[in-house]
Amino acid sequence: MQGLMMETPLLISSIAEHARKNHGDREIVSVTADNPRHRYTFRECIGRAKQLANALAKLGLAHGDRIATLAWNDYRHLEAYYGISGSGFVCHTINPRLFPEQLTYIINHAEDRWILTDVMFVPLLEALGEHIANVEGFIVMTDEAHMPETSLNNVLCYETLIGAEAADFAWPEFDERSASALCYTSGTTGNPKGVLYDHRSTILHAYAAVAPDVMDLSSRDTVLPVVPLFHVNAWGIPYSTLMTGAKIVFPGPKMGDGEALFELLDSEDVTKALGVPTVWLALLQYTAQAGKRLDKLQQSLVGGAAVPRSMIEEFRDKHDVELRQGWGMTETSPLGACNSIKAGLEDLSPDERLDLATKAGRALFGCDMRIVDDEGVEVQWDGVEYGALQVRGPWVCSDYFKLDGAAGTHTGDGWFDTGDVATIDRNGYMAITDRTKDVIKSGGEWISSIELENVAMDHPAVGEAGVIGLPHPKWTERPLLVVVKAEGQDVTRDELLAWYGGKVADWCVPNDVIFLDELPHTATGKIKKIELRKQFADYQFPE
Ligand code: AMP
Repeated sequence: MQGLMMETPLLISSIAEHARKNHGDREIVSVTADNPRHRYTFRECIGRAKQLANALAKLGLAHGDRIATLAWNDYRHLEAYYGISGSGFVCHTINPRLFPEQLTYIINHAEDRWILTDVMFVPLLEALGEHIANVEGFIVMTDEAHMPETSLNNVLCYETLIGAEAADFAWPEFDERSASALCYTSGTTGNPKGVLYDHRSTILHAYAAVAPDVMDLSSRDTVLPVVPLFHVNAWGIPYSTLMTGAKIVFPGPKMGDGEALFELLDSEDVTKALGVPTVWLALLQYTAQAGKRLDKLQQSLVGGAAVPRSMIEEFRDKHDVELRQGWGMTETSPLGACNSIKAGLEDLSPDERLDLATKAGRALFGCDMRIVDDEGVEVQWDGVEYGALQVRGPWVCSDYFKLDGAAGTHTGDGWFDTGDVATIDRNGYMAITDRTKDVIKSGGEWISSIELENVAMDHPAVGEAGVIGLPHPKWTERPLLVVVKAEGQDVTRDELLAWYGGKVADWCVPNDVIFLDELPHTATGKIKKIELRKQFADYQFPE
């Protein structure tokens, strides 16, 4: 027997309508290239998204066509999210930090018909020239006064385009499984791979994200997403904020600027912030130098990379801010796990709490997890045994765009192999110990490069640290630590190796340390291990 409930499709446009009706007066504050502090309301945002939808309807596009965005976090980019997806087109967010060859590849692979771009990325597109000749036109997200001179063909001004349209638009109804957005993983191997989200997955993910043990988001919050709208939908922020009525503060191009971020956090009464560890490092450096305290911020969701214990401690002890670690991937929309305190663990000592907070977190309902050994057999949840982390759920990708299973990332029984290696303890806290491609196997035993990097990062003279496994005649592989010193600081190889004493097992201590001026990075700021391994291909460990 079937239930008797309405079959209302879960469409992104329904979030827009909910926000307009229920939180119409809530504010969106943005830093943009043409305005240091733009302010308007959810109602105005949705009105302008509808103006954009009306304009797009005249471009002769078909349901499911891809329209790309190349932009920072601000109100116009948010309008594009709703105007494009709400109309039944696919919002392909492009990472402007990608290399030109990768940009060309993904624009052509996605078959983008139009590109909406910030003024500052126009030269980036011009440089791609004939390589992206299939793109029909470009919409520059500014007003006439700030339109650049450009060699691009068929260029429209965003404000002029939408200014000619009515703020009234009947959002179309379609299957909730229709594609809504496309994001390519920056991937360290091969060509970038496209993850294609749908309306249903996006809304289910947003419901999960606002829960108390995840972002704990309500209409009383003010949120600063320092995670980019061009990467995995800024962890779902465009949807979760309009769903709950939380005020949004967009930092625009000021993403890595500690002082600008502090000013926004302080003057806009931000209660929740989201970002990768590097961003919060910049903020902590600024607050320490300027003698400032984060008085209003309550909680920050940090993920995308391991979060150093020292960072969690500094936020807690100096600013009374809870740094909540999350784990996720482009392929998981991205939230899969989040670290909050579980019933029964409230009485842990402050030190034990810190230890727990360094773990990636517990699975969200909707992102089932397992860890398996080389034979695909599940290993125990005892916090010690580790295995390949596999996930499944309604917001985990079932394949990559146009790859038809060729990536080989899914198991026969329907799980996605994340490429991460993890432990899960008996309370369900998952900790990433390594990535499959990064694991160092020494004498048959695993060494975690992430653990070694974290210990190095806790040394005050270390600015950035990467650990790679390199061939070793006796042990098959041994770890090499590559370090960029913190500005104005000095440390020697022997001092760093001694720093590991008592912090990791003796046999895990790196065999050598190399100092570099900078490390190679992927477009999303992760250390490019493959590049680093290539760089040291001829390296030989000292006797
Ligand atoms: P991306 O798809 O670019 O967002 O990268 C996803 C990858 O980032 C994951 O597979 C992990 O390797 C890494 N990652 C994300 N969150 C964490 C975390 N909390 N700790 C360690 N690594 C993480």
